[in-house]
Amino acid sequence: MAVRKEIRVSGIVQGVGFRPYVYRLATEHQLAGAIRNTSAGVTIEVEGPGKSVKQFLDRLPAEVPALARITGIDVRELALNGESGFRILASAAGEAIHTLISPDVALCDDCLRELFDPADRRYRYPFINCTNCGPRFTIVREIPYDRPRTSMAVFPMCPACRAEYEDPLNRRFHAQPNACWDCGPRLELWDRAGNRIETEDPLAKAVTQLRAGEVVAIKGLGGFHLAADATNPTAVMRLRERKHRVEKPFAVMVPDLPAAERFCELDAAARAVLISRERPIVLLRARRPTRIAEAVAPFNADLGIFLPYTPLHHLLFESGDFSALVMTSANISEEPIVIDNREAIRRLGDIADYFLVHNRDILLRCDDSVVRPVAGKVRQLRRSRGYVPVPVFLDEGLPPVLATGGELKNTICLARGDQAFLSQHVGDLENLESYAFFREAVSHLERILKITPETIAYDLHPDYFSTKWALGQAGVRLVGVQHHHAHIAACMAENHLHEKVIGFALDGTGYGTDGRIWGGEVLLADFSTFERAAHLAYVPLPGGEAAIREPWRMAVAYLASNFGREFLDRRIPFLREIDAWRIELVLRMMARRLNSPLTSSCGRLFDAVSALVGIRHGVNYEAQAAIELEMATRGSKDEGVYPMDLVAEGACWIIETRPLFEALLCDLERKIPKETISRRFHNTLVATFSRVARLLRERSGIRQVCLSGGTFQNVYLFERLRAALEADGFDVFTHAQVPAGDGGLSLGQAVVAAHRC
Ligand code: ZN
Ligand code: ZN
Ligand code: FE
Repeated sequence: MAVRKEIRVSGIVQGVGFRPYVYRLATEHQLAGAIRNTSAGVTIEVEGPGKSVKQFLDRLPAEVPALARITGIDVRELALNGESGFRILASAAGEAIHTLISPDVALCDDCLRELFDPADRRYRYPFINCTNCGPRFTIVREIPYDRPRTSMAVFPMCPACRAEYEDPLNRRFHAQPNACWDCGPRLELWDRAGNRIETEDPLAKAVTQLRAGEVVAIKGLGGFHLAADATNPTAVMRLRERKHRVEKPFAVMVPDLPAAERFCELDAAARAVLISRERPIVLLRARRPTRIAEAVAPFNADLGIFLPYTPLHHLLFESGDFSALVMTSANISEEPIVIDNREAIRRLGDIADYFLVHNRDILLRCDDSVVRPVAGKVRQLRRSRGYVPVPVFLDEGLPPVLATGGELKNTICLARGDQAFLSQHVGDLENLESYAFFREAVSHLERILKITPETIAYDLHPDYFSTKWALGQAGVRLVGVQHHHAHIAACMAENHLHEKVIGFALDGTGYGTDGRIWGGEVLLADFSTFERAAHLAYVPLPGGEAAIREPWRMAVAYLASNFGREFLDRRIPFLREIDAWRIELVLRMMARRLNSPLTSSCGRLFDAVSALVGIRHGVNYEAQAAIELEMATRGSKDEGVYPMDLVAEGACWIIETRPLFEALLCDLERKIPKETISRRFHNTLVATFSRVARLLRERSGIRQVCLSGGTFQNVYLFERLRAALEADGFDVFTHAQVPAGDGGLSLGQAVVAAHRC
């Protein structure tokens, strides 16, 4: 018996080859009907024998194109209309748009094959792409996603490309960035003054310069990279010096999976994410000895590696036979990544020797994402290219909210209904360029998602750029959200939790409701409220920001807070490593309460221990002292634990560190190796936080625990604490979709603000 059905599909179903897919499927089952794009996704009508329609419906969600993502399917019965054939109809104009744009996607296997096929008309064409791969998010100006609304608008298609574009059975049907040698973007090589270098083959010339140890700025998908031969120490040092980047590790691109295997220890999760279409930078344990220059990641046992994701990358490796290239975001210190050709010359003229550019504009900057597989799951450290703008799907509907994020590793979040859209990595909002990027990210995301927020959520820190911006917006409801509450709410949201949880929010800095700097916080929290149930005891932060750059100050702060001046008599190397007059200076500063705000920061506790055991007295990048302290744990198998005190202060437990430091000083005097001390310190935190969790469970009956905050990027602490809590009968929830650090903050802010309204 014949039936006719209407099927409404929502999700990422436009610009991803969805209509040709449905066309083929319907034709295969000999169904009549049509498909068209709508504001909410696509609407399909099919008519034919009931059995065929059922098979069609079964296969529809199961065999979707690589980039499609279905979030909802609604089916309803229609009256038969007796038509024949299946048609792809034009989009309905004038409707409000609620459809999703795909992220940028790594080159697909079909295109890769064509790229190196001498018989293909796109042989070695650096901008080959199809419906299954290529740029999306970074070339979109407006929606609906159509060529005239992208930066491909200036390239009229040649007849051959046009024919592919219009053929529903072609892999390039409605591939908006479709192009070829005849009609598409072209490469050029420029010198540092911005003069075009006359050459038949700009790519070959750039490869020659890289082989000679020079630094080449290469225009990519979401911005420029600075490239240098990663196996050439001189080249890497040259890049470091010119970029004024002392020790912060560089990411390295390697040609393929076997090369990745040579440089790093890979497990199944690492392999899968390395070759995924998102192609993030993957942080992995480096193998030694290695051909990668030491200067790529000094003092670091890990290496951030990624595989080629644009045709240009593949061509570079193929032509240059490089075993590894440094490919670092092209910027100056923490400023936003450069995307424009002329801007590149202006801002990078002193860093790069040559510029491999092209004439397809990047409309939106988007850094590479950074992930790390931990405990079988890929964890986001920086969620950006390849992942944005795929939303985090919530299990409840929110009103339109904008959350402005934090100050460092900023992202913003726009939420509507059951979808929360986090922006790409905006970065550290401490300079005007980043602030401009922040505003650009807000307006672009509002435009392409057509969301007009009724509520704006912001961090309580009065000095954050993101907070000041929010407080300057008129005609909206403003909701301040405490930093650590936002961390826990983010973890709850991505795990679809609603009941009150025990939340461990451990990080470096977050403004507390008492005006102090929090960071070692245990909260009892739900979406609308929280109670501070435990925290690390306050210590001064002598010199404020200076104490973050110079961890030795934190060591002095902890020792003086716990032992007064008595610690000066201890026989520990630390007191010989740091000049006595500098220690005196800090002690005086603290005694007079000069520029010494109080903090319960967990990050600063790591800093203090890192300095005390002699690993890091000063840092060159954020969290360096803690990162190197964690790496030291790998050199020991010790299971020792130091004591720690819990002192009740009303309904709140204060975690007193005096017993910890007493035991640690004894270990130092006994010349116990720093690897052992580091293990014991980590174990102490695991034991203490487990104890806190048990006490809170006794009091509240809550068994669900959320782990959030930048400190949980520490794999040792993360894995151990999780295991300990689970062994203790807790249900432990962690981050996988958004970073545990401040890059995930905006998600939590959005949800909390929505619940407060
Ligand atoms: Zn492709
Ligand atoms: Zn063409
Ligand atoms: Fe934080």
